[in-house]
Amino acid sequence: MPPKSSLAMVQTGPRKIERMDLPVPDITDYTALLRIEACGICGSDYEQYEGVLNMPMPVVPGHEPLGVIEAIGDEAAKRWKVDVGDRVCVETMLSCRFCGPCLGGSYHLCEDRRIYSYIPIDEGPGLWGGYSEYMFLDANSIVHKIDKDLPAEIAVMFNPLGAGFRWAVEIPNTKPGDTVVIMGPGQRGLSSVVATKQAGAKTVIVTGLEADRPKMQIAKEFGADYAIDVQNENAKEKVREYTKGKGADVVVDVSSYATEPVVDALSFVKPGGTIVLAGVKGYKPVPGFISDVIVMKEITIKGAIGVTSSGYTSAIELLEKRVIPFEKMHTHDFDLTDAELAIKTLAREIDGEESVHSCLIPGLK
Ligand SMILES: [Zn+2]
Ligand SMILES: [Zn+2]
Repeated sequence: MPPKSSLAMVQTGPRKIERMDLPVPDITDYTALLRIEACGICGSDYEQYEGVLNMPMPVVPGHEPLGVIEAIGDEAAKRWKVDVGDRVCVETMLSCRFCGPCLGGSYHLCEDRRIYSYIPIDEGPGLWGGYSEYMFLDANSIVHKIDKDLPAEIAVMFNPLGAGFRWAVEIPNTKPGDTVVIMGPGQRGLSSVVATKQAGAKTVIVTGLEADRPKMQIAKEFGADYAIDVQNENAKEKVREYTKGKGADVVVDVSSYATEPVVDALSFVKPGGTIVLAGVKGYKPVPGFISDVIVMKEITIKGAIGVTSSGYTSAIELLEKRVIPFEKMHTHDFDLTDAELAIKTLAREIDGEESVHSCLIPGLK
């Protein structure tokens, strides 16, 4: 029997997260209850924490949940093909399944799209996000089973790794033999290295800042062929050298805030090549952006928002194979009640701490 209430970390204002006990809802034939094992943290958590996303509050944040099905309605069990006791990865987007984009196969662009972690608690049944012991699973949830024997902090990497597969392989159609430049060595950049190598990319080049050196080292351990420190090296020359003067088939920008990588991508990519922009820049204009370069080189530029089932499936398959030392990019476990500390650590607000991949774990302390 599930408990009557769940500890949840609730965002009540910008930079304000409070501990609350929220009632655990009854489930229906079409819904379920998840006991959360871990919830991954990324840059979007920081944006939400800062309050720049203008989301309704109070809200339970947490959009990267991993957990065990605690209770499930018969119809949900049939539709999702999971049962009580199964460990699942939860997709963060809820789509309507009836609008044009949904029916056209682009459910992540649903006209009525909702994100679990942005639905306020006063919209019943309240337990929507992953910063909680338990989470309500709506009838339109998409869940993926994952091996119970993987450590939770590794299994929860389905999220960044899913992004790596979608952004660096599926969207640019990365093929065996390709040369790929990945800009930004955070958890999504590192995941992109792994994903492109899995796709058969021959040469993978990662760019980052001087402070990113430890992460660039992990990138190499994950299969990157070259790492470029853009502050101390001439990145354009290096990319030219590493691609034998041709430029890269694919350039993926997963860096956040900085706009220079967008301009650099135009010079790194080969004529006829593809650029994927997946790192958001806070809606800033990009200085030095010359659109004629796109014309002259016939560059394809694609945006990437979110991850869909195929990316998660590739990620989960790879995690279950246990062939990549993913533990190298996991830096921090935080107890659920330390959600604020986790976000501040990620945002480099805690001296001497550098977070690559981190997650919240209920009941850790
Ligand atoms: Zn995230
Ligand atoms: Zn829809």
